[in-house]
Amino acid sequence: MVRLAMAVRKPWVEYFFVGILQMRCSVVTDTATGDTVIIDGGAEPQRIIDWIDSFSGKGPDWSNGPRSAGEMQQSKIPERKVVALLNTHAHFDHSGHIPDLKKEYEVDWYLHPDDTFLQTLAQRSALRYGFEVPLPAIADVALKAGEKLEVGSLEFVVHHTPGHTLGGCCLRLLVEEGPDHLFVGDTLFAGSVGRTDLPDTGGDFEVLAHSIHTQLWPLASDTIVYPGHGPLTTIGHEKETNPFVGDDAGSGVYTIGKYS
Ligand SMILES: [Zn+2]
Ligand SMILES: [Zn+2]
Repeated sequence: MVRLAMAVRKPWVEYFFVGILQMRCSVVTDTATGDTVIIDGGAEPQRIIDWIDSFSGKGPDWSNGPRSAGEMQQSKIPERKVVALLNTHAHFDHSGHIPDLKKEYEVDWYLHPDDTFLQTLAQRSALRYGFEVPLPAIADVALKAGEKLEVGSLEFVVHHTPGHTLGGCCLRLLVEEGPDHLFVGDTLFAGSVGRTDLPDTGGDFEVLAHSIHTQLWPLASDTIVYPGHGPLTTIGHEKETNPFVGDDAGSGVYTIGKYS
């Protein structure tokens, strides 16, 4: 029987800090169906594949679910099936190894079209850091501002939040029991915001602040925020304390965030 997408009851979330920039790749599974998405599969693709497929290798840096085949069996979660690759934006640390994941899982890759140009530059950007990535992937599906995105049995709301990049999006996983999970890429960090000075990217602090104020601050304060780098936080905590965009932020003082 095909289960229609709806708010997931209990999400199983894992994240891996990958690559030179220690970028957070998140893997989200619906514990009722096994449907799984990979968010920002930018580096160390084999580490992610080995873990999803067979719990082998180094594994995630954090998980709220099974950590071995035995625990998986006990949990009664159906076998995992990767149904989509989603991206918050197209900086190479977030998207450079999408081609490897696409080859492995043969599923669609979702990206906002305003980051298509940036995506074509992934190899050049990686070289700046002395790294090589495969020929850039081309997105199969365009993320649309404000849409409810159904991927397998998982449901996300797409918040288009330009400012770090033109096509940057925050992807909000709808959760039935407990707070939503918000994957923000480099739009917002715990105590910081994304850089707006990177070349070829369309970064703009005023635009970034506007995106955060209008798209993120209205969300429930207990929404769990998964930034592209660094620790987790919540919408409420950042709204109260973030020195760049929080309620008490000075205007025009801070223009450059900490991460790329
Ligand atoms: Zn990044
Ligand atoms: Zn970035």
